[in-house]
Amino acid sequence: MIIFENVSKLYSENRKAVDALNLHIHTGEFFVLIGPSGCGKTTTLKMINRLIEVSHGSISINGKNIYDYNIHELRWNIGYVLQQIALFPHMTVGENIAVVPELKKCGKAEVQKRVDELLEMVGLEPKVYRDRKPKELSGGQQQRIGVARAMAADPGIILMDEPFSALDPISREKLQDDILYLQKTIKKTIVFVTHDMKEALKIADRVCMMKDGAVVQVGKPEDIVQNPASDFVRDFVGVHGSAEDAFQLERLMTPTLSEERSLSGSPVSVSASLQETLSKLACHDQLSVERNGTIIGQIDRKAVIRFLAERGGVHG
Ligand code: ADP
Ligand code: MG
Repeated sequence: MIIFENVSKLYSENRKAVDALNLHIHTGEFFVLIGPSGCGKTTTLKMINRLIEVSHGSISINGKNIYDYNIHELRWNIGYVLQQIALFPHMTVGENIAVVPELKKCGKAEVQKRVDELLEMVGLEPKVYRDRKPKELSGGQQQRIGVARAMAADPGIILMDEPFSALDPISREKLQDDILYLQKTIKKTIVFVTHDMKEALKIADRVCMMKDGAVVQVGKPEDIVQNPASDFVRDFVGVHGSAEDAFQLERLMTPTLSEERSLSGSPVSVSASLQETLSKLACHDQLSVERNGTIIGQIDRKAVIRFLAERGGVHG
């Protein structure tokens, strides 16, 4: 658990880049910080591993103040992935991963084994990629090396600062899928920064929306979409007319084979609008779908959120 208590950062005396932040980030959670450029996301992230000093307040990890950890111990337990990984051009992929200090103390065979394990973890076949040079990799593959390197010491926490934002949309989506899968499998705590709402809604367990150094809203993706806390949030995730127009409940539902299977909560009509469906799903993960009084399927809240994220029904 990472806890921020009244954390502020002042780069100069009279301006707070981060202003009295209070956050509880749970162990194993995919936590996404989002907000416009300059709102304090990177500062917030870098205070966790002490790349930036906290001015006021305190940050603790698993009950211990970050300033009470030995700095090396702290950094070993925190992986860090940047927007663009800097790979050594003259070294192979394997050597680039093995350069991590944590691997230095291991024997050669052990390092090799760990490098292969890490490559596999990030979806790059070791035999194919281990001996390549960085210039023989695509941008997406290079970012995968960045993720592998961040995981080399098997840290409990990984910080990611807009790690996919320099990638083309297809590589980006692929990496989002893979990091999501990876996080569910290895159960790391991930604090992920983005300014792309589509990305946030897709990958986050919880989203933290920031503005001018302060938190505006923290919640599950569906909370943010359904109950934006202010006009600012509403604008950021604004459900556009185009998403409403394209919405067809029938295409998102799972058809029910047996008519007897009815879920709690009153059924939603198959002809319901996006807004109506979202508001009915506010208190239920799933609802039955009816046509002319007959239950024909069920709709999952996640499916509607996914539709919004994929349709570009939100800004990003
Ligand atoms: P974000 O990552 O959300 O774009 P940052 O955390 O990088 O925002 O920056 C927050 C604010 O702090 C911005 O106004 C930025 O100009 C300022 N800032 C960031 N780093 C420094 C620095 N090293 N010195 C002075 N001001 C900074
Ligand atoms: Mg930033």
